[in-house]
Amino acid sequence: MSMNSQGRPTVAATAATSDLPDTFTGNRALQIEEALLFEVGRDDVTGVDLDEPAEFTPRLGKLARQQPIDLPGLSEPETMRHYVRLSQKNYSIDSGLYPLGSCTMKHNPRLNEKMARLPGIGDVHPLQPLSTVGGAVELMAELGRWLLEMTGMTSVALSPKAGAHGELCGMMAIKAAIAAKGETRNIVLVPESAHGTNPATAALIGFKVVTVPARADGTVDPEAVKALLSPDVAAIMLTNPNTCGLFERDVVEIAAAIHAAGAYFYCDGANFNAIVGKAKVGELGVDAMHINLHKTFSTPHGGGGPGAGPVVLSERLAAFAPLPFIRMEGNDPVLVESEAALKPGETPFGRMTAFHGQMGMFVRALSYMLSHGSDGLQQASEDAVLNANYVRAGLRDLMSQPSGDRTCMHEVLFDDTFLEGSGVSTLDFAKAMIDEGYHPMTMYFPLVVHGAMLIEPTESESKASLDLFIATLRDLVMKAKAGDLERFEQAPRYAPRRRLDETRAARSPKLKWEKPEPWAEAAAAE
Ligand SMILES: *Cc1c(COP(=O)(O)O)cnc(C)c1O
Repeated sequence: MSMNSQGRPTVAATAATSDLPDTFTGNRALQIEEALLFEVGRDDVTGVDLDEPAEFTPRLGKLARQQPIDLPGLSEPETMRHYVRLSQKNYSIDSGLYPLGSCTMKHNPRLNEKMARLPGIGDVHPLQPLSTVGGAVELMAELGRWLLEMTGMTSVALSPKAGAHGELCGMMAIKAAIAAKGETRNIVLVPESAHGTNPATAALIGFKVVTVPARADGTVDPEAVKALLSPDVAAIMLTNPNTCGLFERDVVEIAAAIHAAGAYFYCDGANFNAIVGKAKVGELGVDAMHINLHKTFSTPHGGGGPGAGPVVLSERLAAFAPLPFIRMEGNDPVLVESEAALKPGETPFGRMTAFHGQMGMFVRALSYMLSHGSDGLQQASEDAVLNANYVRAGLRDLMSQPSGDRTCMHEVLFDDTFLEGSGVSTLDFAKAMIDEGYHPMTMYFPLVVHGAMLIEPTESESKASLDLFIATLRDLVMKAKAGDLERFEQAPRYAPRRRLDETRAARSPKLKWEKPEPWAEAAAAE
């Protein structure tokens, strides 16, 4: 396979198996082939014309640069086109249906964006004197109030920057609570169906992870939890609704058993979208739960940031909420930023971040809540569940469901039994969806199901959009079952890149551009 100077496959290489003729430019219709700025720019030119400076005596002494700066010389339009073209390669919720299960890729209402850009909010700085940011503190307090109302919990930590960061925050609160009692519990129970961040979080702060086996439908059996309980168990990390799209019906019994054993119940709240306004997790016995504002409350998923994963804590853990936090004094929110400002009974375990969290995301999430109201949020959950079941009903005669034909929550899980003997793998099937203009659903997760395909349409899709999606999948399934493999083996045929070595990309990513050997040497070496 031919590679470019950075070891990336070139279009010619990735298109080699295509039945489409190569283009002269390597471009595909209006999808323009994109090299790195460093590959197209030349360091002997610059994008700006500046006169040679007049004669002067440099005063930098030995600080003066010894080597060339090695930045690509490009003009403003060349640079701008590069970034605009890169942005066009991102599939996003603004381009089409994004059915990634567990990730809740819902529409980001533009009203939220407008609110986040209001003068005074868009420019607020975490080091501004408190006397100038009363409104921002009040906004954070109001967001916290909504989160506590929706979850039935006691206190909230707003600073964590993502769901996984929220897990860390909640588990550190649990660790602090255990230490405060003088106990040395070191085991965390994690069901088989859990998201990988759950065991990773527990292990990161020194807990030993013990796996709870799943029932055939992917739910957790309270008896299996009870069998694992001991004085060493610190907590369970349970996702509800779980990653199979099912509500854990025995959650109250599990919580009671956990508490009776002196342990804590961490709930992974990534799937909160299904139950907002319907169930308060505090009433289910949860002690800590993170809320992915970018999932449930429609703030943008930003390629690793800026995210926000506030954590709500029960009365048992409230005192351990990290700094900074907001204390309500009557109707006045007071921002508590340092240990010096603590009152008796406030025992934060430390702090998660330098500042207060992602203000822009707080504004967007609160805007979403206020524009929906409590009835609107409730309806959003109901519609999310309705849409997932609409997809399920539209596909259940053709695609296999591991949990039988059971009503799901906000996401529907299929397995690959329906592809058996067809010669089409789960991966082939997902790649064929790309040719049809759909981001594939979550694949091969949860791990408890063979060839899992987890579809979460969210409440933001219209019936017409779901109908087209269902019709497309039905067409693909029938082609697969008929042994018509052309659309699968070669897929994606229309994408700018075909099948890449995703494992190698994840395991040994090239994160740094390396200057290639001069062309002459490279040519001689070939
Ligand atoms: C998304 C997700 C997480 C992690 O959240 P991030 O915000 O991506 O860090 C954890 N658990 C589950 C079940 C999730 O879906």
